[in-house]
Amino acid sequence: MIRGIKGVKDILPDEVGRWQLIEATARRLAEVYGFREIRVPVFEVTDLFARSIGASTDIVEKEMYTFQDRDGTSLTLRPEATAGSVRAYIEHNLSASPTAQKLYYFGPMFRHERPQAGRLRQFHQFGVEAFGCAEPAADVEVISLLWRFFSTLGLPDLTLEINSLGEAGDRPAYKAVLLEFLKTREAQLCQNCRRRMATNPLRVLDCKVPECRAATEGAPKLTDHLSPHARAHFDAVLVGLQTLEIPFLLNPRLVRGLDYYTLTTFEVTCSHLGAQNAVGAGGRYDGLVETLGGSKTPAVGFAVGLERTVLALPGAALPTPSKLIYVASFGPQGAPAGRRMLYELRALGIQADTDHRASTLKAHMKQADRLGASLTVIVGDDEAAKNCVIVRDMTSKEQVELPLSTTAINLQKRLNTA
Ligand code: ATP
Ligand code: MG
Repeated sequence: MIRGIKGVKDILPDEVGRWQLIEATARRLAEVYGFREIRVPVFEVTDLFARSIGASTDIVEKEMYTFQDRDGTSLTLRPEATAGSVRAYIEHNLSASPTAQKLYYFGPMFRHERPQAGRLRQFHQFGVEAFGCAEPAADVEVISLLWRFFSTLGLPDLTLEINSLGEAGDRPAYKAVLLEFLKTREAQLCQNCRRRMATNPLRVLDCKVPECRAATEGAPKLTDHLSPHARAHFDAVLVGLQTLEIPFLLNPRLVRGLDYYTLTTFEVTCSHLGAQNAVGAGGRYDGLVETLGGSKTPAVGFAVGLERTVLALPGAALPTPSKLIYVASFGPQGAPAGRRMLYELRALGIQADTDHRASTLKAHMKQADRLGASLTVIVGDDEAAKNCVIVRDMTSKEQVELPLSTTAINLQKRLNTA
């Protein structure tokens, strides 16, 4: 038999209830906050990701699924959806639309990583992007949506970490100071980080290797090298969060894995998740629209990892099972009457089912139990002849006889008042 790919998971019917709850919560809250959905393609030209995420990031260096199209064009399965959203924003001139500045999306992302708990090669994100607003209030709005999303789902032990990467202009001076420091610790750093020192020293702060983290413990902080404007922006974001009583932790090492971030970056972690504990992250990316050929447009957004959200979701948050009505019909007259009943119930939007293989009451009742039906409608030849049905409450085992023609509407009322 052919198996699925390593790090690419099926989401089975028993798990899907958790996914649907999370997706419905995300969609509802995003709309409440004034975001509108965008659906961007799963693959794009490779250059889009290389230019936006940054050539010397882990994602672009070693995690992308890149392939040649038949005409030789290099294409890549999206490792994240910000680049595609920005491309669409520019391509469709969404900056001209007052209602298309705040976007949200769902969907699969692809990164060639080492598969482990909470780290997959195909994973799913919910994310938002808010364009056109440079004000710190926009950062606060996006963070507050992220925070509300996780709190609404009841995720336990959350921490919001926040940092400022300054503006592009603040980087060179800081990089020089950081590099001086890193040179004194070079011997303790991993191979990768020694290489990063030359290509992108900020990335060293993002390294997950414990030795590297220890060696860079006392590294100079970017937040000590912010321009007055970047400092004021950061302070305003922090005050904004305090006003909303959203707790946060300053983390001067939080540089994030994508080069396009400027000013605010943030990450939410859930301490129940072990090593892969970041459930969502984001930041401001004021230069990206311009980098990708649009006009200068400030923007801020986040992306949530849905697999990790599912892992952290408390059992109690699960939706209660729906009210299924089972139709048990048999016999030459009963069976067709039952099929009509099923059709009517479904037309009323009631979840109803049967087992087409069952030809006896006993077989039907067994299946009704297995499916967890709340009510069973029984129609045999006798009932069909009398134009009636028997309705059995599966919990109390009580049975009543009802006229065939009004049963569906009756049951709808009963479900609505239950
Ligand atoms: P990490 O530090 O965990 O690698 P990241 O910085 O690469 O995360 P982002 O690119 O910011 O993550 O993506 C946002 C969120 O998407 C993460 O916080 C995480 O929840 C989720 N995520 C990222 N990569 C994966 C993956 N390979 N498998 C599952 N979820 C992921
Ligand atoms: Mg990563």
